[in-house]
Amino acid sequence: MRVFFILFLIFFLGINSAFAYELVLPKDRKTTVDTNYAFFIGKANRAECITINDERVYIAPNGAFAHSIKLKDGENRIALKSNYNTQIYRFYKNKKKSSKEAILIEFDEPKNFIVKKDNTPLRNTPIDYGMNRISHLFKDTNLIITGQKGEFYRVFLNKNVEAWISKDAVVENKNFFEPRFITMNSETFKNASKHIIEFSDKLPYTIEETENEIFFKVYNPYVSEETFYTVNVKKPFKYTYETISHKGTYVFKVTEFPKPEENELLDGITILVDAGHGGSERGAIGCLGDNEKDINLKIANELKKILEIMGANVVMTRECDGTVSLDDRVKIAKENCSNIFVSIHLNSIPDIKMDIHKNKGTSVYYYNENSKELAKIVKNSLVTQLNTRNDGVRQASFAVIRPTEYVGILVEVAYMTNPVDSVLYKKEEFPSVTAKAIADGILSFVIAP
Ligand SMILES: [Zn+2]
Repeated sequence: MRVFFILFLIFFLGINSAFAYELVLPKDRKTTVDTNYAFFIGKANRAECITINDERVYIAPNGAFAHSIKLKDGENRIALKSNYNTQIYRFYKNKKKSSKEAILIEFDEPKNFIVKKDNTPLRNTPIDYGMNRISHLFKDTNLIITGQKGEFYRVFLNKNVEAWISKDAVVENKNFFEPRFITMNSETFKNASKHIIEFSDKLPYTIEETENEIFFKVYNPYVSEETFYTVNVKKPFKYTYETISHKGTYVFKVTEFPKPEENELLDGITILVDAGHGGSERGAIGCLGDNEKDINLKIANELKKILEIMGANVVMTRECDGTVSLDDRVKIAKENCSNIFVSIHLNSIPDIKMDIHKNKGTSVYYYNENSKELAKIVKNSLVTQLNTRNDGVRQASFAVIRPTEYVGILVEVAYMTNPVDSVLYKKEEFPSVTAKAIADGILSFVIAP
């Protein structure tokens, strides 16, 4: 009898421990990380009492949970207890390498270099960080290099402007002729203005925006350390702009955002709807094991329908599950002369965060000044209609929203890794409600005078 009872107990405990919880993160019992926190994300039976290092874990009504534990350098043993068993997870936290700052090396003589390919970022600091880009240079742009620091060369533009370019992006130019200024003129159209500056060869340029104006500047440091040519354009309320270069000719064109006729809603507006990730790129993984790419696609397909009803011409980067590169997403948008680019995503925990439960709600990202207003309107519309936490409007350097030819935003509707948000994004109506909120925001932006 006693043997039977013990067998029964083992059987009972076995079943319970097997179904107590399932983890999405960590994937293994032993993990090496560079983060300050260990993240436990998964689903559990609500009847379970789960603690991690004796901290009680909140389990959402749908079973989703997420918990973070601060790590010390080296090995950390973390005990995850459910009703009937305890599992030990080992996290090895790498010590932060004290990154020695690179030393600036001044060249004895300035050197002539040329840019190897189009769209090469010119930065104002010698680091590969998103927001320090001052322009994107064209292939064969002539540069004067005066020094180096780490992986970057220092570019001389003007006595007041120092810039940096990745060493990989340039090559020394042996057959060098000093570029000469040829001519400069402007043309004004009904909804655009076009400015042409012609040189005998390509030179570096920058674009700066103030509240009311855009300054397009081409530098010719070969003439003097103060020589530059500038075009300043009064900014329309809503606008896009583009810079084209053919040999030494620069065309800088500022276009007013199209105004639909009264009651015509989005008629005449082309909107690129971009479902984030796809194919082998799953995006973030939710507490319940959902793939971000699938939810993004459902929202994108709903958004297409609503925007088309509003009269827009809609272009999609993907309409099914498949891999599309970031370059191709931008290419599709530009080839179709898109006025607006909206990239759809769901967020996940950032690497360093005190409390995983604080990372919830809706945020919208923009890169260029011309897209900030749309980001604000769409974020407000989502927060109101979905009743999510306001996670803010932020500027960030994402490749798909960097081009200036369209107004571009990247929407993070909610957090895949937040248990409360998981209740929201698991709802059947989530894709259509989200799409409606985004479409309403776009419409408000377009019809605003
Ligand atoms: Zn994403």
